[in-house]
Amino acid sequence: MSRRIVIIGGGYIGAPLARSLENSADVTLVEPRSHFVHTPAMIRAVVDSTLLDRALIPYDRLLEKGRLIPARATGVDGDGVTLEDGTRVEADWIVVATGSSNAMPFKPEGADIAGLRADNQRIHAQLRSASTIAIVGAGAVGTELAGEIASAMPDKAVTLISADKALFPGVPGRLGRALADKLREQGVKLILGTRAEGLASLTEPHAGRLNIGEKVQSFDLIFPAIGSRASSALLENLPETQKSFAGRVRTDPWMRPSSLPNVLAAGDVGDAGDAMTIVATSRQLPWLERTLQALVAGETIENMKPYKPWEARAPILVPLGPERGNSFLVALTAGDWITRKMKGEDLFLSKYRKLLKAGRP
Ligand SMILES: Cc1cc2nc3c(=O)[nH]c(=O)nc-3n(C[C@H](O)[C@H](O)[C@H](O)COP(=O)(O)OP(=O)(O)OC[C@H]3O[C@@H](n4cnc5c(N)ncnc54)[C@H](O)[C@@H]3O)c2cc1C
Repeated sequence: MSRRIVIIGGGYIGAPLARSLENSADVTLVEPRSHFVHTPAMIRAVVDSTLLDRALIPYDRLLEKGRLIPARATGVDGDGVTLEDGTRVEADWIVVATGSSNAMPFKPEGADIAGLRADNQRIHAQLRSASTIAIVGAGAVGTELAGEIASAMPDKAVTLISADKALFPGVPGRLGRALADKLREQGVKLILGTRAEGLASLTEPHAGRLNIGEKVQSFDLIFPAIGSRASSALLENLPETQKSFAGRVRTDPWMRPSSLPNVLAAGDVGDAGDAMTIVATSRQLPWLERTLQALVAGETIENMKPYKPWEARAPILVPLGPERGNSFLVALTAGDWITRKMKGEDLFLSKYRKLLKAGRP
């Protein structure tokens, strides 16, 4: 039977998938980082560095039967995976879940967890001594960061800048308006419908000047928050791949990114019609688990039900610090209490620490 599954990348797709399949297949997880990086808590960690001890979670207890290889994969083909030292790992099924990179100090550069800690300390110190702060980009990361700073450090002058005319323009209901009202109440200045030009770095917070419309404005600290970039290098050389946006690779209805029938791609790297979110992985995971379990039992992939993405109905939870925020859930916009209970208080830390069998630090 074709039981060997190799998963490349142990993020929100790879780690839970490896855990859930390790008892029914021969599972290998290839992941170069020593720690799982819990991104929702990395935003608050900018104002509270002590959170890092809970948000960076060691991988060493994740798997019992499965094998964890602490290495970077450098190649994929129909027979298996090549690691950076040239080692081959043979596979019947391969899941590429290499995710994406983002700005500092939210995700590490490659596998450098010590570097991420150092970046967090440095940027936290810069933030403490800054009076004027700009955040460029008002997606979930930029909006949450504005709320976290305004809530933990109310003496700072925070400006949130977006080229879009409203916050979360693609989300139904009144999520964007509710969040904008709360941010203004917290003292955040919103500049919407105007592009900020002149960022000295797209990934590293820095002091400097921005051209905002007709004006030039100086800030003690500017956070670029302009989105994730998919880590798709492994997929680029596969036959008949198609790029979508942000470096992602489009997948077919069975999450295959190329004409190789046994290579799947999920999460941020594979564009199956979902956004680049953990919420998307929560819908993809049950499908992947079911499908891979059937495949190792001998089923043919085309006989399996295709994956259906969230489309416009994906929930989104946006805390503005531990107490406040808004969420879009199915058809309604929820307020502070629901957002706090569902995300703001714990930031899903307990869930992912449980997955990785980590105790309290
Ligand atoms: C600051 C921040 C906050 C966020 N908050 C939220 C939130 O609250 N809710 C939400 O829904 N989404 C949130 N997101 C988005 C979410 O983090 C991503 O959608 C999610 O991480 C995608 O999971 P993934 O498994 O595809 O990839 P990732 O989590 O990026 O994991 C990919 C893994 O692959 C590994 N890898 C990469 N290349 C290789 C290679 N060549 N060989 C082996 N391993 C490799 C990496 O080391 C990494 O561990 C946030 C993102 C950021 C940046």
